[in-house]
Amino acid sequence: MNELRSKVLVIGGGPGGYVAAIRAGQLGLDTILVEADRLGGTCLTVGCIPSKALIHAAGAAHALREPQALNAIGLTVGRPELDFAKTIGWKDSIVARLTGGVGALLKKAKVRTLLGSAQIVDGKSAIVRADTGESRIETEHLVIASGSEPTPLPALPFGGAVLSSTDALALTEVPEALAVVGAGYIGMELGQAFAKLGARVTIVEALPRILPLYDQELTQPVARRLADLGVEALVGARAISFDKGLLRVTEADGKERAIPADKVLVAVGRRPRTAGFGLEALDLAMSGPFLRIDDKCATSMRNVWAIGDVTGEPMLAHRAMAQGAMVAEIIAGERRAFDHKAIPAICFTDPEIVAVGLSPEAAKAAHGEIRIGHFPFRANGRAMTLQDDEGFVRVVARADNHVVLGIHAVGAGVSELSAAFSLALEMGARLEDIALTIHAHPTMSEAFHESALAALGHPLHV
Ligand code: FAD
Ligand code: NAD
Repeated sequence: MNELRSKVLVIGGGPGGYVAAIRAGQLGLDTILVEADRLGGTCLTVGCIPSKALIHAAGAAHALREPQALNAIGLTVGRPELDFAKTIGWKDSIVARLTGGVGALLKKAKVRTLLGSAQIVDGKSAIVRADTGESRIETEHLVIASGSEPTPLPALPFGGAVLSSTDALALTEVPEALAVVGAGYIGMELGQAFAKLGARVTIVEALPRILPLYDQELTQPVARRLADLGVEALVGARAISFDKGLLRVTEADGKERAIPADKVLVAVGRRPRTAGFGLEALDLAMSGPFLRIDDKCATSMRNVWAIGDVTGEPMLAHRAMAQGAMVAEIIAGERRAFDHKAIPAICFTDPEIVAVGLSPEAAKAAHGEIRIGHFPFRANGRAMTLQDDEGFVRVVARADNHVVLGIHAVGAGVSELSAAFSLALEMGARLEDIALTIHAHPTMSEAFHESALAALGHPLHV
């Protein structure tokens, strides 16, 4: 067995782990990263990137299949044909480019990368089993970044026609009829994408509305688009079983219904990966199923750190990356804490949803009197030229001093506005700061400017 030593040992090469390792390497810390599968983790290989590639391809296919918008600008197109296996090949080529890039970045930062499964021995050592043999690593700091995996439903275990998000992203044919259980991030993003690719999609959600993690005003435009796409959303419903091409469901009124489906995507959440690699031996304090951490991502054991999905909600790649960079800096001796004002949340549905900071309800509960400013994209020139003026920007601020508490939007391509929203919150902006900033014309970001003016009582363009 190889005997290795490091200052930092990172278990998991997802966005949390690889960023922690790169930053540690940049800071001159002798670092080893262990990854059991592919560098890039869930995000790059079976999550954020492949799903967004599929969403893009689905949007392009849909624009050609339903060419009214193209016809309106004078374009006529012939009958489009989709080679879905090629679409998946294209998606895989992006994944390969990015995972290869992560390997190069780790090398550049002088991180030693071991491809193999790590088994924790104690808080200062682990054994790695790789194809090339076994290594025992002694370390000063252990960073656990083992991520998460899809949660199965007991009545619908993964396998055969019952798909996890990972399986759905590897299909080589578009299913004729797809049932989706769970109308959260994955169910909605992939459900809409498969509908645009030509599948007949039915969504089954246990709670009374789709995307229950966002407030209803934000999700209404998405619900309307679902209906336009011919997707049926059964809310307040539960899937009971799947057999012989029929998904049996109990609807909100208690009646049973059988939905024909050749595939069923189960997307009811993800669970932390905490079992099977010796973590139990450390007996770390837990927060429910997740590893408990403080504001420095320290666990209950000295010099054992945890970052990303294994530490709980929000299970987002950018949170994992921010935690990873911070932990490396703390290990290098910097004074840091995770005290961000906001972690942006984006749902890449059609239209997209962005939420940064507090919703109106949460702002009211925390601060009493608030001001809300809205600006609809139907009054925004750029949105009109892009042929999609559905949605709005909404800003929420304290009534007394106008400090902004939350910024939200729903509309085509609004994910790119999230940077401005997060910066405003992080800088402690007041409504006047946004109102007095010149926003370029013609852009969708003018709706952000106008929402602040609206909150101050003097919007210019409505
Ligand atoms: P992971 O990315 O899960 O990485 C953990 C890594 O650890 C894995 O590669 C695993 O193989 C490795 N590992 C585990 N145990 C061991 C061991 N014992 N030894 C060696 N290696 C080990 N988030 C967003 O912010 N935006 C999105 O648009 C988005 N879209 C998503 C779409 C889908 C379909 C899914 C499933 C997720 C999506 N997410 C998105 C969530 C995002 O992927 C996760 O939040 C993110 O990947 C978490 O990063 P992580 O580093 O904590 O864990
Ligand atoms: P989710 O928590 O977003 O949604 C799960 C949905 O399933 C919820 O609406 C829930 O009410 C519903 N549900 C639970 N049990 C059910 C049942 N028995 N029958 C019917 N519905 C049921 O989970 P997800 O969509 O699986 O995504 C997992 C995680 O991955 C998310 O929490 C998110 O952190 C991450 N993710 C993020 C993005 C993004 O940032 N754009 C995209 C995809 C995934």
